[in-house]
Amino acid sequence: MGRYLGRNLGRYVGRFAPSPTGPLHAGSLVAALASWLDARAHGGTWLVRIEDVDLPRCVPGADQIILQQLAACGLVPDTPPVYQSQRGTRYQGALDQLIATGHAYPCGCTRADIAQANAALGLSKPRHGDLVYPGTCRPERGGLKGKPARAWRLQVPDAPHDLITWQDRLLGGQCQHLSTAVGDFVIKRADGLWAYQLAVVVDDAAQGVTDIVRGADLCDNTPRQILLQQWLNLPTPRYLHTPLVLGDNGEKLSKQNGAQALDLSSPQQALRLAGQALGLDIAPQGTVAEWLMQAVRRWTSQAP
Ligand code: GLU
Repeated sequence: MGRYLGRNLGRYVGRFAPSPTGPLHAGSLVAALASWLDARAHGGTWLVRIEDVDLPRCVPGADQIILQQLAACGLVPDTPPVYQSQRGTRYQGALDQLIATGHAYPCGCTRADIAQANAALGLSKPRHGDLVYPGTCRPERGGLKGKPARAWRLQVPDAPHDLITWQDRLLGGQCQHLSTAVGDFVIKRADGLWAYQLAVVVDDAAQGVTDIVRGADLCDNTPRQILLQQWLNLPTPRYLHTPLVLGDNGEKLSKQNGAQALDLSSPQQALRLAGQALGLDIAPQGTVAEWLMQAVRRWTSQAP
């Protein structure tokens, strides 16, 4: 990264994009800290976007708690946070564009239909992740065939044209065959809500984000987002996926599996732990601002 920082990169815009489904936990602070450090190390702008598209999973007031937790750690966005729940018109515009260019189609399948179609192909649900959509409602297969439209899907290229690659700043060269790993994926859900994949791509571009720094649990989504960027004629940002923090049970920390809210009785201590996950071991001494200044120096010189 030292070399990377040495280049004249021009404008840098980074962001942290939490879903307000509960308070931040130790794992989410790692992603927040890394994106803030990287923005500061590049003399860039750091944004916070509240990803509240999945309304049923959002917890009222969690956005404010998250912003307060970030502020307690000295991580304050350069402009007021944007809320995805207020940006439906932009997402609709992107969907319209994808329909007009023949990249999106309506799907009438229920979960049971998809499971059945997979079973007929001898495929069962992987332990983590969703079933690959078998393309039942693709236009070339006759479309909805009288079923009511439920969701909208992006039609991914068939093999061998479905390979998406990117150079992750931390993980190096990455690739995924979209047709076998994911299949045609949902961009507008059956319940009428916008899918994360579409919203994140539209917003990152609209906010001019040049660098996405986020947890490695989201790596698997990146190829879908790169394809959407390509088909919406949007630039692909640089990506850096940070190491995951595992809980005592060896599972990744997440709100879904009951990770504890961050203990902010000592923000420096919380920052120290987050820093350690990023390979920056900086003792908690002095003020939060002093800790952060040291961390920026270290990130600039030694981060991967
Ligand atoms: N909102 C997503 C989450 O909380 C993160 C999105 C992103 O960083 O791309 O998991």
